[in-house]
Amino acid sequence: MFSFSSIEQYHARLKEGTVTCEQATEHYLQQIQAKQHLNAFVHVYAREALQKATELDQKRNAGVSTGKLHGVVIALKDVIAYKDHPLSASSNILKDFVSVYSATAVDRLLAEEAIIIGNCNCDEFAMGSTNENSAYGKVLNAADESRVPGGSSGGSAVAVQAGLCMVSLGSDTGGSVRQPADFCGITGLKPTYGRISRYGLIAYASSFDQVGIFGKNVTDVAKVLEVIAGQDEYDSTISSKPVQPYSQLAAIPGKKYRIAYFDEALEHPGNDPEIGSAIKKILEKLGSDGHDVKPVKFDLLDYVVPAYYVLTTAEASSNLSRYDGVKYGHRTIEKGIDLTEFYKLSRSEGFGKEVKRRIMLGTFVLSAGYYDAYFTRAQKVRNLLTKKIALIFKEFDFIVLPTSPTTAFKAGEKTNDPIAMYLADIYTVMANLVGIPAISIPLFTHSNGMPFGLQLMAGKFNELPLLRLSNELMQGYRTQP
Ligand code: GLN
Repeated sequence: MFSFSSIEQYHARLKEGTVTCEQATEHYLQQIQAKQHLNAFVHVYAREALQKATELDQKRNAGVSTGKLHGVVIALKDVIAYKDHPLSASSNILKDFVSVYSATAVDRLLAEEAIIIGNCNCDEFAMGSTNENSAYGKVLNAADESRVPGGSSGGSAVAVQAGLCMVSLGSDTGGSVRQPADFCGITGLKPTYGRISRYGLIAYASSFDQVGIFGKNVTDVAKVLEVIAGQDEYDSTISSKPVQPYSQLAAIPGKKYRIAYFDEALEHPGNDPEIGSAIKKILEKLGSDGHDVKPVKFDLLDYVVPAYYVLTTAEASSNLSRYDGVKYGHRTIEKGIDLTEFYKLSRSEGFGKEVKRRIMLGTFVLSAGYYDAYFTRAQKVRNLLTKKIALIFKEFDFIVLPTSPTTAFKAGEKTNDPIAMYLADIYTVMANLVGIPAISIPLFTHSNGMPFGLQLMAGKFNELPLLRLSNELMQGYRTQP
């Protein structure tokens, strides 16, 4: 039976001839079938994936040089465009929509010979923290099926967690890759804003959105980043900074890092004390291993969630105005109505509850009478935060935080309390407000049996040291309850 531990090991086995791309793809297709009840996938491209695998096997056997992601089986979140394949943001408003072009990230995966096996369920338009806001129904956490996988990229996380593909892509606007990675016990990276092209990524909040990567280990995530990062003429917010050799993760011998943490975060009343103490133990170990680990005073924590929700809903209300039932997507069948009524009905029928809530909230904070009280203020918080974080990174290489204040919630636990749900984003939204890279690595197991992660943040475009330290931590700092 096929088993997977890393891309590197898979490539070595392909070279030895002990496995083929076709066997790997068949294995994942069987697993997807067997674990269909997890509801991780929206569409599976079985025939196409197998055909691609056969072609790749032939190419490799003919000695034609192979791509960096040769035969790597990848799933995409249902907000990432893949030409001639369905794309719906897990929303009824885009039901049956087929993409007419591919995201830059997807083109780059394909150019390096990846096999795309399907697209994954997510919260509608990437709005949510549990994957319960999907037109295709909820996704189950494979570690405990009564719990949510996190969101919004819940399907992509479970696809990796449950062994339904090797790596997957998600998107992270306020934690949607890191938090499900934390809940599912896998690695999830949100790169610096502008590191990966957003071309072909359905917009939620454009000044926050980034494509992110899920993997079973840090090296796989790094390999994918190396392939998909970098300049793109189709994204005006992309950086022209050269792509670093992210997959070269060997620790630099004797390298000591300066690591900051916030007592205000670890001891926050909303944080599960077991999560706080597990992270403190790691910080102590890092200190005793010679790293310079220090607390930094951080009094902005309680402002990050309100600022995030004001700014992202404002951007969402504008981004989602394009779904009007005319250009594409769901259109009401009601006859004999005027244009305004047509828009209203199409949008009311097409969007789900959470998306409507955010469009209304965003419209409100942008309205003439309230703009200064909400939108301008939230922008000021974003500015303050950016300055504060820049100051911290003058003195430190990394900031350590929990990824989430709790382990995975029970399904339905927070559905009727959106504020409680929003507050649980307290540790992840900061990286998006500021645009810095952040990763969640699955270091811990809680006494309730669920996995949880540690979140590591670095200064802008410092993905390479971020991945290096993450890899080191995964090798030497993993703990059991
Ligand atoms: N949970 C956050 C939200 O609901 C994060 C979403 C995301 O990163 N796409 O907005």
